[in-house]
This record gives sequence, C-alpha cells and structure tokens, in this order.
Amino acid sequence: MNIDPTIFRAYDIRGIVDKTLTPEVVEKIGQAIGTEARARGESTLLIARDGRISGPLFLAALSKGIIKSGCHVINLGAMPSPVLYFATYMLKTHSGVMVTGSHNPPEYNGIKVVLKGVTLVEDEIKALYDRIVNNELDIGVGEESHSEIIDQYIKNIVNHIKLKKKLRIVIDCGNGIGGAVAPQLFKALGCDVTELFSEVDGHFPNHPADPSIEANMQDLINKVKKVGADIGLAFDGDVDRLGVVTNKGDIIWPDRYLILFAEDMLSRNPGATVVYDVKCTRHLREEILRHGGKPVMSRTGHSFIKAKMQETGALLGGEMSGHVFFKERWYGFDDGIYAGVRLLEILAKRTETLAEIFDAIPTSINTPELKLPIDDDKKFAFMDRFMKDAKFAGGTLTTLDGLRVDYPDGWGLIRSSNTTPYLILRFEAKDEIELKRIQDLFRQELIKLDDGLELPF
Ligand SMILES: [Zn+2]
Repeated sequence: MNIDPTIFRAYDIRGIVDKTLTPEVVEKIGQAIGTEARARGESTLLIARDGRISGPLFLAALSKGIIKSGCHVINLGAMPSPVLYFATYMLKTHSGVMVTGSHNPPEYNGIKVVLKGVTLVEDEIKALYDRIVNNELDIGVGEESHSEIIDQYIKNIVNHIKLKKKLRIVIDCGNGIGGAVAPQLFKALGCDVTELFSEVDGHFPNHPADPSIEANMQDLINKVKKVGADIGLAFDGDVDRLGVVTNKGDIIWPDRYLILFAEDMLSRNPGATVVYDVKCTRHLREEILRHGGKPVMSRTGHSFIKAKMQETGALLGGEMSGHVFFKERWYGFDDGIYAGVRLLEILAKRTETLAEIFDAIPTSINTPELKLPIDDDKKFAFMDRFMKDAKFAGGTLTTLDGLRVDYPDGWGLIRSSNTTPYLILRFEAKDEIELKRIQDLFRQELIKLDDGLELPF
C-alpha cells in the first residue's frame, strides 16, 4: 500500500479524505499506533472522533488496526478532543487516539495521538510512518469495548466551578463537535445560553469552525450585540481552542485573555510559572511579572507548550492560536470549553463588564500573523541564513522559534510555519511610528538576503 509521507506532520497526522487518507490508510496507522503503544508498555487505547462526515468510517478503521496489533480499544464515540484527553485521566489508560480534522475544511481529517500522557510530535509521528513502510507492526488479537465519558466530564466541571452570578452568554460551536457538550454544560452552570450552530454537521454549512480567523467570529459578534450578552464564546471544530467576544462585540485575541487567566491564577498561586508562545504580546510577560509570576516563552505549537509546562511545572499555558492549558484545578491539557468556563468564573466574580475589564489591561498596536510565501524546500535554509546574518542593533534576540526581536516599545517576529509554505511575521508596538520602524528593520534585513520576496507588510 502507498502511504503519502507528508500526512505525518509536526503535531499530528492530517490528510484529505479519500485521497491521502482512506480507511485502509487509517487502519495501517492504527496498527502502527497500537504497536507503538505496546512498545511503551500500554495495553489499551481510548479512541474517539469529532463530528466530521468521514469520522465513523475512520474510527472503525482505526479500531480495526489497533486491535490487529494486539492492543485493546475502548471506543468513546463522538466527542471533543479535550473530552478524550479528560478520559485519559479518568479511565484506566493514559493513552488515547483522536480522529479529528480540528478547524480545517470538511475535506480534511486527521489523527492526534497521546501515549502515556504525552502528545506525539515530529520524529515520533514520523516513526509511525517508518513502522508502516518497514512493516515493523505487531500482529495480535485485541478486543474493543465501549464507554461513556461526556456526563462525567460535565459533572466534574459543574462540581468544581460555581459562577457567582447568572451570565447571559452566546456560544458558537460552528457546527463542530462542541455542540455535543457545550450547550448542556453551560446550561448546567446556570448560564442563560443563546446557541449558534450547535448542530454537529461535518459540512460546516455556516462558517469554518476556526475562531482564529476574524471573519468566522462575525456571526457571534452580531448575536452578542443583538441579545445584549455578557460574553460570546466560540470553539474550533474539535474544541481545543477558544475564541472570545466582549459584551461590546470586540474580539479579545488569546494573548490578551491569557493576561486575565494569568492574573487570576497568580492570585491563588504566587510565583507560579506561565508558559506562552513567541507570538504573544509583550504585555503578557509584563503582566505576569507584575502579578508576581514567572513568564516562560516557548516555541509555537500546542505540543511544545505542553512539554514546556511539564518541564517547568507551570500552572498555566497558552498560545496565540487559542489553545489554553490549565494545570491549576484541571489536568493540563488544552480545552476550549474549560477555558471558556474559567473565563465565565472570572467575569461572574467581577462588577465590571468584560469590555471594561479588558479596557484596563495594557494594549498595543499589532498586526495579525502576516504570511510571506516561500517554497517549502527553501524555507528552513532561508531562516537559518536570516538568523545568522540579520543585524538588529539594540534589540533583545530570542531564537526559540525563528527570531523574535524585542525593543523597549515593541517587537517583531519571523518564523517558519511548520505546516505551510510560508514564513510567518508578526509585529507589535506602542504606536504606529515604532511599529513602522521595527517593520523597516525587518524589511531591510529580509531584502538583503533575497530582494525577490513578496513582503506582506
Ligand atoms: Zn483543534
């Protein structure tokens, strides 16, 4: 069988349904994952899927492949990725496999793997491909059983989080699998809930289930204003990411709401560590320090944030993409619904509106992520040269993930996208003049290496 090696990516496996990802391919991957799990001393894997059309067929194929390796399967059915992660803490195995295309268009699907509490990344994912092509696959007879976990997930959250007042909220599940959990949970918390697109529908007929794109937040913004809600929450297709809209209808991007989460967590845990990625606002670091916490910057990628949190013992982590990880009072995995609940908890304790709360948090002018197209085969070599040759006098350089240059009143970042043929840039500064100055510095250094680049700024 021919398997396309490019579906084995940095953080997960992802392909196009019936092209690079077929039931036969998924079955082989299942056998490889089962073999890998057994090699690591696991005998049972939890499996689940999101709401995509190809989900049921792929989940069955995955189960078949895992069983073929001699590993047992507990099939949890359709649910958000974070509910599967929750199950790895509640049930007798700490390993699980999620069939999900996350926020991607309907024609995509994919697989995320957690073994013994650790998300497989990069070489470990590539190793699954190697196992398949080298036919290093166990053969045995595993068994499949079924279990239910959603009720336990809801009960657990409702038992440990009480909202101090009734909040009027709008939730937008974007027809993703969030619809199977979020409406029920937020009602159980006592909220007055207006729902948008809770019907799980793998065609995503309303808007893509990706709250990191401004256009996808427009329906939520309109509804929040129309019903006079206190807050709007949006989730991506598999609910590991959160989007937030204030009562005034303004989007609060993740690096800003992380400031609020950090402040809240640090009020109970003085000196605790917060991990965030290189794309985040400089105010996040300043505010963590101001509230007595320890800021730690990480490479971008939810798996890297998680790994850095484990390494530093951090109680909170997050990234610009909207993945938020609570280790305080929760299990440390990325969970969009749980992050939403924690935000409601904070809002319900305060007398100000959400817009007023964020008005009081320092802000800057910033750009969204800007994409500079570059051939995949040139991308990493170009970044190597840039990092060696570029001169940024007076700036503080961070080389965790590409190059971030911080000045007293702003910063710029350039890094390679791990998954697309682009270099990604982002800029932030106290005013337009400083923003332009930093962009000009980057422009000069980029043009020095290649004057044919199509710069997006
Ligand atoms: Zn996702």
